[in-house]
Amino acid sequence: MNKTAEDSDKKYQERMAKKKALIDERIANAQEERGILILLKGNGKGKSSSALGTMARSLGYGKKCAVIQFIKGENETGEQRFFQNHPLVDWHVMGHGFTWETQDKAQDIAAAEKAWVLAEKLLADDQYDFLLFDEMSYMFKYGYLNVEPVIEALKKRPKMQNVMITGRTMAMPLQDIADTISTVQDDRHAFRLGVKAQQGIEY
Ligand code: ATP
Ligand code: MG
Repeated sequence: MNKTAEDSDKKYQERMAKKKALIDERIANAQEERGILILLKGNGKGKSSSALGTMARSLGYGKKCAVIQFIKGENETGEQRFFQNHPLVDWHVMGHGFTWETQDKAQDIAAAEKAWVLAEKLLADDQYDFLLFDEMSYMFKYGYLNVEPVIEALKKRPKMQNVMITGRTMAMPLQDIADTISTVQDDRHAFRLGVKAQQGIEY
């Protein structure tokens, strides 16, 4: 090995050792064991699918999970077909089938409140390890639900319970108490290239 190569090899080793020390320190510092609140927001594609991927992780360890879909689209979804008969998954779709086409506000509010009653029950039940409130954020945006009781129930939930909430916009009070927040950015979407929504990808 020539001198320059040896030098860069040594430098590389030093850099890696430093990096390892830093990572080890961070691991040593993160020792708390508790469930977390994860928010997935933003305009890009990948929020609900990522939350369901996380749920699959939990299921891999035999954890009990529940999903409440706060918005029901026009299409039946592949994820519902896949998960709804899983012995460890309770799958709930909100009320009468809220869609973007709905124009009956009183009916939407009633459905949102009913879904919240269920969500609150799940948040008080330590049998559930993982809860997904899919598209819940719209309930606050459209004023169908107040965020305060949701914050209270989240704060009081069982210590090891993990909760994920998705939706393009996220109420600030939820962001204030969340442990992990990821924003999925919309750099491009096939829909705008004229590609029709397809089974197994979009729904
Ligand atoms: P996914 O369920 O694919 O993870 P998402 O939860 O991030 O998407 P939503 O805002 O819930 O996105 O939108 C639901 C549907 O709209 C999905 O079919 C998704 O593919 C589609 N979609 C998401 N983002 C966009 C976008 N920027 N433009 C057009 N369609 C989108
Ligand atoms: Mg979604």
